[in-house]
Amino acid sequence: MTFDPASRVQDYLVFGEFGDVNPSITDSSTYTFLSPERMAELFEHEIEGCFLYSRHFNPTNKYLANALERMEDGESAQVMASGMGAISTTLMTLCGAGNEIICGRSIYGGTYALLKNLLPRFGVTTRFVDLCNHDAVRAAMTPCTRVLYCESLSNPLLEVSDLPALAAIAHEHGARLVVDNTFTPMILSPLRHGADIVVHSLTKFVNGTSDCVAGCVVSSHEFIAQLNDINSGPSMLLGPVLDSTRAASILKNLHSLHIRLRQHGTNALYVANRLAALGYTVHYPGLGNHPQHALLGRLMNPGYGWGGMLTLDAGDHAAANRLMTLMQRDKVGYLAVSLGYFKTLFTTPGHSTSSEIPLEEREAAGLHEGLIRFSIGLDEDIAETMVRIERCLTEARVKPGGSPRI
Ligand code: PLP
Repeated sequence: MTFDPASRVQDYLVFGEFGDVNPSITDSSTYTFLSPERMAELFEHEIEGCFLYSRHFNPTNKYLANALERMEDGESAQVMASGMGAISTTLMTLCGAGNEIICGRSIYGGTYALLKNLLPRFGVTTRFVDLCNHDAVRAAMTPCTRVLYCESLSNPLLEVSDLPALAAIAHEHGARLVVDNTFTPMILSPLRHGADIVVHSLTKFVNGTSDCVAGCVVSSHEFIAQLNDINSGPSMLLGPVLDSTRAASILKNLHSLHIRLRQHGTNALYVANRLAALGYTVHYPGLGNHPQHALLGRLMNPGYGWGGMLTLDAGDHAAANRLMTLMQRDKVGYLAVSLGYFKTLFTTPGHSTSSEIPLEEREAAGLHEGLIRFSIGLDEDIAETMVRIERCLTEARVKPGGSPRI
């Protein structure tokens, strides 16, 4: 059955106390109780409509969480101060000393550093594998594995995770499938394909205006209660709480996400097709030659496009730098990390968002030095922008070809 996340978000209605079309923003860290008995009761178990302290939850954050849980077709959600807050607290909820995580080798650098450098200090170890090789994933699972972790569309290599197959492997081994859906909100609904927990960096497409950092976790009632438990929940105890004024602005932006995604996707497909026609090594899941094009076609919700992310291999680092400098000069977009902004953003991941991953591991995964990651913007006239990109390619002496993917 077709799932329509935009309609699910659209039908979520909340008002302010005067019928305001936007809900009132909670401007309080704490809440009064009518009696000491009621206070004690609330600290023992959650009571619908009652709030105990804004690090735990506050009404504005709850509105955003409710909208996101509808978008992802989950039972419950928690919003966070960052995507990394969502990822780290999720993994700390699921894993303790002696447990293992199996993670894709093409992954955001911050997540890699968390798994490789920080979690081992608490006795949680990770093995990084090629998630396209299901035999390798199966072979890596052990009785200590608690989590199989992937990005729905990986950063920066844009590999599509076969969510039903990975969920089946995780569940066969008593583990949970955790999916970072930051690159494909609305396009993919991982919980509907068997994932147990979805995390997002809301900083990116969901918010879309690059004016704040935020994240969320969507899952079952049981998991969100565990994450937020006042005695043992990593969200409650580490405290990555999102400010309510930001939650309110993200909720407003969420309501235009479907329109923005279509424009990002239309523009990215145009640029990808044109670069491919010119003979450049371009990687975009909407192109027929992308290795998981058919898989994404099967899994995706129709009507939101193939996403706004693409990569171009400029051949080497110097050529990539020349091209990015010229594209910034000619107002193609900004030389900046992050993604999902209305302007096009470009970066060389090997020297920025994936620099935490050692060079040998990056090369082995196919993340070459000349790889440029683009987050294509909402340009009204993408053909005109493409003319500028082509001029920059010529002036930067970037040759068609580039390093092949392995
Ligand atoms: N997940 C992915 C795929 C990302 O690209 C990023 C940041 O670039 C994050 C998570 C971390 O999100 P945040 O910067 O909001 O903490």
